Amino acid sequence: MTLWVKAQITQIQLWKKNLLYISLKASIDKFIAGQFSKIRIENPYTNTKIQRAYSFVNPPTSNKIEFFITLIKKGQMSQKLLQLKKKQNILISKKSYGFFTLKEILPSKILWMFSTGTAIGPYLSILQEKKDTKKFEKIILVHSVRYFSDLKYLHFIQNIKKIYQKKLIVIITISRERKKNFYYGRIQKLLLNNTLEKNISINMNKENSNIMLCGNPNMVEDLFKILVKKKNMTKNLRKKPGNITRENYW
Ligand SMILES: Cc1cc2nc3c(=O)[nH]c(=O)nc-3n(C[C@H](O)[C@H](O)[C@H](O)COP(=O)(O)OP(=O)(O)OC[C@H]3O[C@@H](n4cnc5c(N)ncnc54)[C@H](O)[C@@H]3O)c2cc1C
Repeated sequence: MTLWVKAQITQIQLWKKNLLYISLKASIDKFIAGQFSKIRIENPYTNTKIQRAYSFVNPPTSNKIEFFITLIKKGQMSQKLLQLKKKQNILISKKSYGFFTLKEILPSKILWMFSTGTAIGPYLSILQEKKDTKKFEKIILVHSVRYFSDLKYLHFIQNIKKIYQKKLIVIITISRERKKNFYYGRIQKLLLNNTLEKNISINMNKENSNIMLCGNPNMVEDLFKILVKKKNMTKNLRKKPGNITRENYW
């Protein structure tokens, strides 16, 4: 059973009509970068409770708990999150969950991190923490958004890139508008037509690469199928290590 603790909202900002940033202060157990937490909102007057999973954006070393959240039109939790104010209290799970962490991935030459929208969160946590990134010679972060205005962490990513320098390659693709210096189109297309590998002169194969997939389940499933078919890769399991580690947001 989930143990819930009080979390005070220290910052809440609507970054765009459908993108919310929340920062919380709460006494939770230490988590591993890449994991997610559960947030719960209770209304004693209507006797209703709602909870959802959210991935940490902050590294475990930070005392701020941060989430980057897509607001869903008519979404049950989203509509409640929108109404929250600074200093209000909500509930957060004391423990954190999930295996979408570098601890679960064997060392390899290259680590590919694929994400859509707010699913950039776990990678920001992992990259800020840095610890387990030593297991990989090169990290390639491939991030997809619909519009340029969805890139709320762009400066942050650019700063992380400065820390990692040549070790980190960042590829950002925008699927619904063309922008100079950014890729255009869905990640699936870029992988299928070899654009990604060709443009960075890196060959992705079963022997040299581990792959992380996070976010929209269509992207996760499409990429999984492409990687299995084209690259002969397999799912990464504790009992049977493979190349592909995945996390669906819905
Ligand atoms: C392990 C895990 C980690 C997650 N981490 C995050 C996170 O860090 N940030 C975040 O925004 N969401 C995250 N989610 C999704 C989150 O838990 C909720 O599903 C989301 O906030 C919608 O809740 P809702 O009640 O408003 O929508 P609901 O009324 O439950 O409607 C669900 C529908 O909303 C859509 N949807 C759900 N999540 C998203 C999304 N992120 N982007 C676009 N469409 C979506 C899908 O169509 C889904 O069928 C995570 C989910 C999982 C399982």
